[in-house]
Amino acid sequence: MWKRSLRRSLGLIGLAALAAAVLTGPADAAARCKNTGSFERWLEDFKREALSSGISRQTIAASLDGVTFDPAIIRRDSGQGVFTQGFLQFANRMTGGARHPNGMKNIKANAALFSRIEKEFGVPPAVVAALWGLESDYGAYKGGKYNIIRAVATLAYDCRRSEFFRKQLMDSLRIVQRGDLRPDEMIGNWAGELGPTQFTPSDYFKHGVDFDGDGRVDMIRSVPDALASAANLLKSFGWQRGQPWLQEVRVPAQMPWQEAGLDIQHPRSQWVRWGVRGAHSNLPSDNMPASLLLPMGRNGPAFLAYPNFKAYTEWNAAFVYATTAAYFATRLAGAPVVGKGNAEVVVPDAKQVQELQRLLGHRGYYKGEADGRMGALTRAAVKQAQIKLGLPADSYPTPELTERLRGGR
Ligand code: CA
Repeated sequence: MWKRSLRRSLGLIGLAALAAAVLTGPADAAARCKNTGSFERWLEDFKREALSSGISRQTIAASLDGVTFDPAIIRRDSGQGVFTQGFLQFANRMTGGARHPNGMKNIKANAALFSRIEKEFGVPPAVVAALWGLESDYGAYKGGKYNIIRAVATLAYDCRRSEFFRKQLMDSLRIVQRGDLRPDEMIGNWAGELGPTQFTPSDYFKHGVDFDGDGRVDMIRSVPDALASAANLLKSFGWQRGQPWLQEVRVPAQMPWQEAGLDIQHPRSQWVRWGVRGAHSNLPSDNMPASLLLPMGRNGPAFLAYPNFKAYTEWNAAFVYATTAAYFATRLAGAPVVGKGNAEVVVPDAKQVQELQRLLGHRGYYKGEADGRMGALTRAAVKQAQIKLGLPADSYPTPELTERLRGGR
């Protein structure tokens, strides 16, 4: 699960997130593990494993000979902040300025390519263009100057997430062996992501597409390859052709708030019965399954998320990112700017979330770490406490909830 949230918290997204981050130190227990043995010995071991996994001696030598440990990579990895922006702040920041007009321009300028991609993979232009814009500002952001093989080898040697990065390293060698990229061409960000759609080496190897027909998958220099690969990855996550992904809605003053959340689906007709209405377009009263998303609680913006939304949470497990990317795609498909909702919503900072997590823990609602992140476990615990205390159970933490839990009432 961390994989996608890490991988997609990088690049442009990382820059935006870190600007508003609160550093609370390493959150996971794995951060306290110890490396044993030298990097050089580890690398020789890995070369043997690569050979027995079908990588040629030539590829291994070209990719790994002379590769050294890079302490700067570990420093970057350990310095990741806790993401504390609310949805509106993050979404407005990531989709504001020139990003929307540039997205429209890029869709127009690449109309033939986008249409070919939609025909082949079933993913519409706005969806692909939104990810292109968010991951790299349509390729303007180059994603770092790190040699991917050195970066991934460093992270694979490091004990914290060695299993994940060992696979990434092996797939980096497979990219070289397939003739897609030379080792010296594999330049990207410090966690191994490549190209304008920021693919990990494993996704690159498994889902990369040669869409310009030059015989190799070049997601760094070929826009057709990068965009078609993104559509192919979404398709592998279950994207359904011709289906919607997200629709902004208005919610009534009162409804069964505990029905909100990605883990719950109802037919649209049920949402209509509860008083949910399309914000800008009609909400048909039919059987299509949908989840009610309230990223800032019942007073903030509201969306119905359709089955295709799952492709976004697979792309990035971070809820605020997934919702922003899906929302930006609706904007590029013609939807207006999202409304603020019914009232001003207070966004708790990481320290306030930590306190809430401790209070929820004391009361038996929460068993995770007090890491300051509003993850799925924390939202579920908030909902349980709200139900118990007779508060509107929209899973969103309010100062009132913290106050009630402090007082033990
Ligand atoms: Ca190609």
